Amino acid sequence: MARNLEPRCKQCRREGLKLFLKGERCLTEKCAVERRSYPPGEHGRGRIKQSEYLLQLREKQKARRYYGLLEKQFRGYYEKAARRSGITGENLLRLLEARLDNVVTRLGFASSRAQARQLVRHGHFHVNGRRVNIPSYQIKPEDVIAVRSGSSAEQLIRDATDLTASVPGWMQADHEGLTGTILRWPEREEIDTQVQESLIVELYSK
Ligand code: SF4
Repeated sequence: MARNLEPRCKQCRREGLKLFLKGERCLTEKCAVERRSYPPGEHGRGRIKQSEYLLQLREKQKARRYYGLLEKQFRGYYEKAARRSGITGENLLRLLEARLDNVVTRLGFASSRAQARQLVRHGHFHVNGRRVNIPSYQIKPEDVIAVRSGSSAEQLIRDATDLTASVPGWMQADHEGLTGTILRWPEREEIDTQVQESLIVELYSK
């Protein structure tokens, strides 16, 4: 399975905000965005000519990197969102939020989406009592996510829960029992991804 191998901190610096791609390090003063708050590369501190296209492109790249997806996968989510009824941009964010690797991160069972993806791939989670090892698996309301009993990653997962003070209102987490339940689909204002999804829709609908 192809994955994005671009250095993670460079991705944040390119987008000019913390995308929280490295877990605990993102919460420390070692964060590259805090230390060098300008884009990477030789011309990072030069003036960049703004254009409508550039704004749309940056929003798309920001969202794609935040959820750790490649262009083809991200475009696939957009096309699925556009086919659904309702506001395409919101549909897109909901589809991205419903990925199992994102849900595991939001529940606090992993310190980053990259870690969540690895834990899911290695079969450390059950969904409704069945082992699921597909990071893109789409979660739906009333699904119950649980750490597999006897999982060798239990301590790692418990350490990650220590970094999570609260979970979004559309889900419920039991950090002691290492389980989580999806209560409903998230409302747009409950998705804290700092992205203007309407610009992504404008970019793709050209
Ligand atoms: Fe981004 Fe985390 Fe690196 Fe900071 S430490 S730049 S938030 S990946």
